[in-house]
This record gives sequence, C-alpha cells and structure tokens, in this order.
Amino acid sequence: MITDSLQALARALATKEVSSVELTRQYLERIARHNPQLNAFISVDEANSLAQAGAADARLARGEGGPLTGIPIAHKDIFCAQGWLTTCGSKMLNNFVSPYDAAVIERFKRAGAVLLGKTNMDEFAMGSSNETSFYGPVKNPWNADCVPGGSSGGSAAAVAAGLTPAATGTDTGGSIRQPAALCNLTGMKPTYGLVSRYGMIAFASSLDQAGPLARSAADCALLLNAMAGFDERDSTSLERPREDYGQALTAAAGDRPLAGLKIGLPAEFFDQGCSPEVMQLVEAAIAEYRRLGAETVAVSLPSMQLSVAAYYVIAPAEASSNLARFDGVRYGYRAPAYHDLNDMYSKSRAQGFGAEVKRRILIGTYVLSHGYYDAYYLQAQRIRRLIAKDFAHAFQHCDVILGPTSPSTAFKLGEKAADPVQMYLSDIYTIAVNLAGLPALSIPCGFAGGLPAGLQLIGDYFTESRLLNVAHRYQQTSNWHLQRPAGFD
Ligand code: GLN
Repeated sequence: MITDSLQALARALATKEVSSVELTRQYLERIARHNPQLNAFISVDEANSLAQAGAADARLARGEGGPLTGIPIAHKDIFCAQGWLTTCGSKMLNNFVSPYDAAVIERFKRAGAVLLGKTNMDEFAMGSSNETSFYGPVKNPWNADCVPGGSSGGSAAAVAAGLTPAATGTDTGGSIRQPAALCNLTGMKPTYGLVSRYGMIAFASSLDQAGPLARSAADCALLLNAMAGFDERDSTSLERPREDYGQALTAAAGDRPLAGLKIGLPAEFFDQGCSPEVMQLVEAAIAEYRRLGAETVAVSLPSMQLSVAAYYVIAPAEASSNLARFDGVRYGYRAPAYHDLNDMYSKSRAQGFGAEVKRRILIGTYVLSHGYYDAYYLQAQRIRRLIAKDFAHAFQHCDVILGPTSPSTAFKLGEKAADPVQMYLSDIYTIAVNLAGLPALSIPCGFAGGLPAGLQLIGDYFTESRLLNVAHRYQQTSNWHLQRPAGFD
C-alpha cells in the first residue's frame, strides 16, 4: 500500500481497506529490506511502532481518528522521543534514551500518527550531505553514489525510497529544503516560531525550525497542521490563531488558478553559482507559473551575498553555547578513563564529538570571545538585520519569491567532504531565509542527468498557506513530484 498521498492512506484506513498495524508492518518490512543499502534510519523499534499502530486502530474503530491517525511517520533523530534512543547523529548521545517527548513528537502522537523510526542525520544537524553522522552517510535513493543532502538526509532518503509515507526534519540553514531538492520531495521550513522547538536538540536556537518532508504540498499541509501551534515551553513559540494549511488547496480553480499572484525573481538567485542544468529547470518552472496566471517581477536582495558568511558566525556562536551542555556529567558519552574533572570534560568532548562539530565549537567560541565579539558576532547580527530588510522590501513588490533551492543536483559522496567552504556554499540559496526567519519550501521541478532538482518558494511571515497553495497548483499540472527512484518497489 505505497501510495502517493497521505490522504489516500487516511481513506484506506477509514474504509478498513488496511489497518494501521498492517500498514505499519508493510513499512517496517520495506525498512528491513532497503535500509541496509540506504542507512536512512538510526533506530527502528518494531514492537513500539506496532503497539502505537494497535492503539491507532482502536481509535479509528471508535470513530475518533483524525487525518493522520494510524499513519506511520518517521522522525529525524534530533527530536527527543520517550523511550527511544535519541542520538542527534552523534557518538555523544549514542547511549541517550530520552525520558520525554519533544513537542513535535507529542503533537504527532496526539494526532494518532505512528512513530515508525528515527532517521539518520548530520551530527547535531551540522552539514549538507549527511556525511558527518556518527552512524555513517546516507545514500541517495536516486543514485547510491550520491549524497541525499543534509542535515535531514535520512528523512529525505526514507520518504523518497518509500520507507515511510512522510517524515519530519529541521532546517537551520537549509536542512529540510536542500535534502528535499536532492531527493525529489516537497519540504517546508515554516516561519520561525510556528513549530515548537521544545525537545528538539538545539543547534542554533535563533535559526532552528522543524518542518515536514513529504511527497507533495498537500501532504506537507496535513503534517504542518499537526506540527504548528503555540507552546509555552518554548520562549520563541508564537501565539497565533489556528489555521488549516490545506484549506486553500481544495478551493476550486480554473485554468489560471494563480492569476493575480506576483512572483519575485531576485537577481541574486539568477546570477551566481547555479549550475546551468538546474537553472534551465527553474526557468521552465517559471514559464509554467506564468501559464498558471502568475506575473513575475524583478526584485533584489543585495545583502544576500553576505548570508553564508554571517550564518557561519551566528550559527557556530549559538552552537558553541548550546553544545556546552554535553560535558560527560549529566547524560551522553563519558570518556572511560580520565584523571580529574577537567580531564573528564575534555576527553569526553574530544572523543564524543566529530570533526565538523568541533570546528563549529571552535569558530563559535572564537567569534564570541572578548576582542572579537564586535568584529564578528556583532557585524554578523547587523548583516542579519539587513537581510531581513531586503526581504521586507522585496515583499512590497511581490507575494512570493522564487529561485533554485540548491545550486546543483546531488553531488557524489566524498566530493565536498574535505572542503568545508564548498560544503557551506551548498546552502547559498537557503540560508538567508533562516536569518530572516521566513517560511520557504522546496518542490521538485525536474531532472538533470537522472537526478532531481528543487525549486524554492519563499514567503513573507506566516504565509505558509499561500506558499503551499502556490506549490500545490504547480503540482496539479506537473508530475515531477510523482516520480520515484528505481529499485525500491
Ligand atoms: N548546512 C548548514 C549547516 O551545516 C545548515 C544545516 C541545517 O540547516 N541544520 O549548518
């Protein structure tokens, strides 16, 4: 029962064509068959998932189900889940079984979804290729020699190969959108503050945001309905009236469903560093949007060129502070041999963290240190403000901004692993969005050399519904998002 939509699964569950236990079993079997090749999951707990599925069936039988009741969902291993190993892709948390649920996990439980497993990821979500995971790299189902993108690469590979109907991810600088692009998925990073960060292991708190990875905008809307909402345990959670993110999608529309929509095309997205094959597909998508009735306008984001530099000051600064808690004392890895407390701290951290995480901690500590704070951290914060202003200015002239998600299709495993700056530039089109706190999504827009490419749509604050609708209208007339990689039947 591998279908293209969560709605179809919900219907099959409602009509008893399949039970949640049967459905969960089918996906667990697919994981058993294909995960050894892909390495998309860090943990699977069949008994636990099947017990949740049994409870969902009972709930469905009582007629108390919602749109996600009984549907298996995989979660990035950055979300604490009670009784589950929660590693964040790190040796540091290799032995950490969470005593509580993250808000996102809680919300999916409340909706009756089944926790299918925890997915592989770059260590502490630092990376764009999934190669920094302590559990080894994830393979891209479209080509096993290529990366799936990162840091939510396990989630993306799992959805793309049909090992789960949908998954969650987190996006600090592109980690939902970039793997969505590289694996032919729809992935959304919501407005900062829309989804609670409670229980989501912190990387860079002012940038981190959870969101869905799925096969279509319609599926993402259903998932976002479950995920979004105020949470007093997260001080940056926003109190807003409830919204049905799927509502606009069902509205009837004629040939030109996007008539009146203004799409902004920033010069900066079209004149730097994007591969010609990806650019060609983006141009074709723009033509399709014009056919759907949208009008395009030129806009400019002049400070965007500084976004990667500003991000690699701000994100490591916050990471160096957030990761101070991993000291071998309270939980997580502790070095087996040491001679005093300081030695225990330093050996535990030296042995528990991988190279990329250490690089970030060193950069972060440096830019926050006395004498450098003004030159780096403060400057980066100023650039962050300018970037947000650029977007605010652009949104005076357009409703959504469009461009590529990633400058290239999936690259080869190992290709950028030795060159951090090359790796950091993978997020050249996504990072500015996090610095500004805006919502954005990536949708499939075609293939180059057998590998998928992603189209990015960025909206103003809280325009998730519109973004999903703009994505959905494209998906109603294109079938890129329905393509599946060979070999995963
Ligand atoms: N690739 C970026 C980084 O390494 C973004 C990661 C993310 O969004 N979690 O920091």
